[in-house]
Amino acid sequence: MKLYGRRSMAGGCLAILAGLVALAAPAQAQNYPTRSITMIVPFAAGGPTDVIARIVTGHMAQTLGQAIIIENVVGAGGTTATTRASKAANDGYTLITGHMGTHAASVPLYPKLAYHPEKDFEPVGLLAGTPILILARKDFAPKDLKEFITYVKANETKINAAHAGVGSVSNVSCELLNSVLGVKPVGVPFNGTGPAMNALVAGQVDYMCDQIVNAVPQINGGTIKAYAIATAERNPSLPDVPTTTEAGLPAFQAQAWNAIFAPKGTPAPIVAKLNEAIVKALDDETVKKRLLELGSVIPGPKDRTPEALAALVKSEIAKWTPVLKPAG
Ligand code: ASP
Repeated sequence: MKLYGRRSMAGGCLAILAGLVALAAPAQAQNYPTRSITMIVPFAAGGPTDVIARIVTGHMAQTLGQAIIIENVVGAGGTTATTRASKAANDGYTLITGHMGTHAASVPLYPKLAYHPEKDFEPVGLLAGTPILILARKDFAPKDLKEFITYVKANETKINAAHAGVGSVSNVSCELLNSVLGVKPVGVPFNGTGPAMNALVAGQVDYMCDQIVNAVPQINGGTIKAYAIATAERNPSLPDVPTTTEAGLPAFQAQAWNAIFAPKGTPAPIVAKLNEAIVKALDDETVKKRLLELGSVIPGPKDRTPEALAALVKSEIAKWTPVLKPAG
């Protein structure tokens, strides 16, 4: 009897505790955020992911009334950081700015990937589309894309292409280019296309396929050259750079994207608050101007919801899996 009584008291306490926790959860979400938020960036500072994350979270922090601290966590084409983010507490205080590589191409490329982009994350919102460019060091011999194609085919064992690790956007998009051209040049991995760009500017590597964001200032400053942009139309930030179709390689089309994700199970009201802050940032004139100056494509209203991002991740995994799996 005594024992039963104790148990029932303990049971009663647990029930009260569970009730308090259940009550506390919505209140926690309502007051969110009450302290600073960590935004993991899975590549080095100065690359497209880092630049886009800093521009958008700078404005989100004003909306949310708390600092958003960027933490660059590098390695394994962004998958080291993404694994860490997938295991973080799902309380809205640790987020990640992922992209087409970490949240799509990684699935077929890493058979032992420690996370699944769809199962281990809550999509929060798309930040930007980022066209891909074929870039080279400024003194690389070929003058235009036609010469580049001939040169790469003739010298594939002697030249190298910088990228940000297996499964990164720069890696996957240049692999796509290589398969279109039927070549296998040497790849040189960096912790992000920030440092890869520095190596290209310094003439230490020959060429690179990169998201537009950190290329625009370098192309306009004449420190590197751009052969073509792999989208249907020219980009207003680089009006003189021809499309791959104009330059004679229509088969190479590539545009990446960056987006914010939260660990699975992050309460829906917190995800909604974060999404609202993204939308506000994307509508802000200064943020818009900065993103457009760097060649990004700002998502339209329909593409800004968590549901739209979930659909994008699903379709990108479906798109990249057959392309990347046979290549290993
Ligand atoms: N562009 C990425 C960055 O460094 C890396 C990549 O995916 O290529 O932000």
